[in-house]
Amino acid sequence: MSETPKHYLGRVPKDADLGPALNQICKEQGITRGSVTLIGALTKAALGFYDQETFSYETHEVNEPVEILAGLGNVSLKDGEPFVHLHLTLGRGDCTTLGGHTMPGCIVFACEVCIQELPGEDLVRGFDEPTKLPLWERW
Ligand code: ZN
Repeated sequence: MSETPKHYLGRVPKDADLGPALNQICKEQGITRGSVTLIGALTKAALGFYDQETFSYETHEVNEPVEILAGLGNVSLKDGEPFVHLHLTLGRGDCTTLGGHTMPGCIVFACEVCIQELPGEDLVRGFDEPTKLPLWERW
């Protein structure tokens, strides 16, 4: 008989770096496969854009307070540890938006997160040659 899926509803502490903090929550909660949604605000952000020609992330520093209008991601295993892949849509003070892949340096002002565990076989990230990204190893 399978276990009841976990739902984690909680806050990420002020001044935490969002990505590593989410990985730590998943590790502590034992969630290795799932979906993530969150809202809140950041004191500053770092957003990635993957250049499909150079196969590398360009990082865009956002050195101003922003709202997290939407954070959407997933949880799988990378190097044997829970890893949250998260994209952010951010709102600026003039109500324009920015968005991208969450890079290290997204510093939390406030953040409410919902992580839904999705039971099933381990979902593992490995190197994908065509994209040179650490993607899920199965389709
Ligand atoms: Zn991404």
